[in-house]
Amino acid sequence: MTSKQFFVTLLVVSFLPVWITAAENWYRGNTHVHTALSGHGDSSPEFVAKWYHNCGYNFLILSEHNKFIDPKGVTLPEDKREDFILIPGQEITGKPVGVHTTAMNIDGLIDWTNKETDSKGYVIQDHIRKTVEAGGQPILNHPHGGSSITSEDIRLVRDFHMMELYNANTKRNNLFKRRYLNLPLTSENIWDDLLTEGRRVYGVGSDDAHMFLKVGPNETNAGLGWVMVRSDRLDPDSITDAMKRGDFYASNGIMLKTCKRGPKLYVVEVDVEKTRDLVSILPEWAGLETREAKTGYRIEFIGPGGKTLQATNGPEDSYSLKKLDTYARVRVVFARKKGNVMYEEFYAWGQPVFSGN
Ligand SMILES: [Zn+2]
Ligand SMILES: [Zn+2]
Repeated sequence: MTSKQFFVTLLVVSFLPVWITAAENWYRGNTHVHTALSGHGDSSPEFVAKWYHNCGYNFLILSEHNKFIDPKGVTLPEDKREDFILIPGQEITGKPVGVHTTAMNIDGLIDWTNKETDSKGYVIQDHIRKTVEAGGQPILNHPHGGSSITSEDIRLVRDFHMMELYNANTKRNNLFKRRYLNLPLTSENIWDDLLTEGRRVYGVGSDDAHMFLKVGPNETNAGLGWVMVRSDRLDPDSITDAMKRGDFYASNGIMLKTCKRGPKLYVVEVDVEKTRDLVSILPEWAGLETREAKTGYRIEFIGPGGKTLQATNGPEDSYSLKKLDTYARVRVVFARKKGNVMYEEFYAWGQPVFSGN
C-alpha cells in the first residue's frame, strides 16, 4: 500500500459511522404477561406460551405476580420452533404502594415484601436491588396506570435503567390519553426527564396481557405491545445483555428494517411491508386514536428536554448528533384514517444514544 492509499483508507475508515452493536438478528419478544396462576388471568402458562409461539414471537417472560413460573416446568408445543424460548421472570408486585417490576432472567422467586412505607422510590429501589442481586434485569412496569409514578419518585433511585414506556394493558390511562387531554405527564415525559438528567434509561413495550380466551377492546389481550431485540443469539443471557445495551426498540405496530445507533449518527428505516402486513392483522382497537394527524410515516428524533431535534415525513431518516445533544432517541409514527373524523397511530420507539458513548 502506498502512503497515499494508506491515507485515503484512513480517511474513509475515520468517516465510517461507529455503531454500538454489530449484531444483525432481530428477535421479537414480550417481557410481561399473566396466566391463570395470578387468579385473574384466564389461561395456563402452557396456553400462553403456545399463543406467543404460534404468533411468531421469539421469546416470552411468564411474569406472574409474586410467583416464579420455572420455564423447565412449562411444556412447550411438540412442534416448537427452534427460535422460541422462555426467559424466566416474575412481576415483583409491591404492597401497599403499587410498584410493579419485572425481574427478567432470574432463577427463582424474589421476595416481594418490604417495610411499611409510602415511598414509591424506596420500593422501586428495593425491587431493583433484589433483582440485580439475583442476577436479573429489572424493568419498572406501567409507571402510570395504578402506579402513578413520576420522575421525582425515580430521581434518587440507583441502577435505574429500564422502564415500560408502553404497556398495552394500561394504555387507556397512561401515555396517550394523557397526551390528548393535555395532562402534564406521559411515560415519555418521565423518560425524557431522566435522560435529560443524564440517566441511562431504556424504554420497553409490553402486553401485560391477562385474557386470551375473551377478546375485545376492553379486555387485556396479547400482541399489542412488544420489543424487537437485536442480538447474535437467542438465549436468556444474550437477550438480556442486548437489552441492557439498549439494542432494542419498543413497538405497538411498527417494524423497523434498520435502527442503528452510534455516538455521532442515528439511522432508522421502517420495514414498510412488514408493518403493513402486521397492522392489517392487528385488531381495530390496537392503534391509538387521535383527532389530528397527518397520514403516513413520520420520524421524530428527540433530545434533551424532550425537544424534537428533527422531524420528517416518510419511512426513513437519519440524524447527526450535535454538540449539545447529550442524548438522541427516535420515535417513528404511522398514522391512518379511522372512520370519518378520527385517526389512529402506531409507534416504534428507538433507544437513546448518548453523545458520551
Ligand atoms: Zn403490574
Ligand atoms: Zn402485570
